Amino acid sequence: MKVAFFSTTKTDKALFEKLSPDYPVDLDYFDVHLNEKTVPLAKGYRAVCVFVNDTLSRPVIEQLAAGGTELIALRCAGFNNVDRDAAREHKLTVLRVPAYSPMAVAEHALALMMSLNRKTYRSYIRVRDGNFTLEGLLGFDMFRKTAGIIGTGRIGLEMTRILTGIGLNVLAYDPYPNPKVEEYGAKYVELDELYRQSDIITLHVPLMPETHHLIDETALSKMKDGVMLINTSRGALTDADALVQGVKDRKIGYLGIDVYEQEENLFFEDHSEEIIDDDTFERLVTLPNVLITAHQAYFTAEALDNIGQTTLENIQDFERN
Ligand code: NAD
Repeated sequence: MKVAFFSTTKTDKALFEKLSPDYPVDLDYFDVHLNEKTVPLAKGYRAVCVFVNDTLSRPVIEQLAAGGTELIALRCAGFNNVDRDAAREHKLTVLRVPAYSPMAVAEHALALMMSLNRKTYRSYIRVRDGNFTLEGLLGFDMFRKTAGIIGTGRIGLEMTRILTGIGLNVLAYDPYPNPKVEEYGAKYVELDELYRQSDIITLHVPLMPETHHLIDETALSKMKDGVMLINTSRGALTDADALVQGVKDRKIGYLGIDVYEQEENLFFEDHSEEIIDDDTFERLVTLPNVLITAHQAYFTAEALDNIGQTTLENIQDFERN
């Protein structure tokens, strides 16, 4: 099957070049994001293979369908970048990789928590400069602190395992509770109670209309002063302006984010030689106790192998059926 593969990263291309000879696929690589401007490149391809930063809006889907595309093969779990109503109307099948490595994302969330708490990101730079003072590096013991996990699906469950394992009290909220969470020693509570009691709050919910800006000014006002907030899920679960204000007011004591609301304009590309034209992002990166990573929580060797194999199996299964 002829597949138009959209990616701006070398790692993606290398991975699929390594794995694809074992599958009946013919991949053509396009070093751009798929969006309204680039969609003509996909004309005549039966499948497009895309990632979180490709925009599959209604106009893109209409053009894909008109150009003969039947399958959207996502190399990710989240599908908030696809207009699924439009895909359904135009009879495009959307397949994704539901679980490639929940451990990878949960471990990255833990890395953010610990780096923020112990300020290792600051210490690293200081020590390289020959500054071995401890001022500004004071942390706290995570042992017996209370963590609130919002969303206990695949990743939230791993987060529960990790945080209960290192001795935190874990509170959880999910409209569909998972009995395994309580087996790990965590306790389901209402969202407001989780906000009230947690020292650390970590988000593991999908972005959907109901979860858009879940963390806004009102939600923040219910949290403890100085709370640590971690988001490795999707940027738009949080209102970025409320985050900036929350850090300035010291409502948020520590902010660790791997995702950002307008990340499609920035992430996965090198903008280091440019002036970034995004005030909210600029304000966030310059605030103290804010640690932003490059949507890399999933980026482990094990997860990439799973992504590659499952995506190619999805394409193969589609062709067989
Ligand atoms: P999942 O579908 O297994 O679990 C999501 C859980 O959220 C479910 O249990 C669901 O009941 C719950 N949920 C839904 N609405 C909720 C709400 N309003 N409040 C609380 N819980 C709610 O998903 P997952 O595999 O655990 O992934 C979670 C998210 O992580 C994905 O949707 C994706 O956006 C993100 N993700 C990020 C990266 C990264 O690299 N940063 C990688 C993979 C996934």
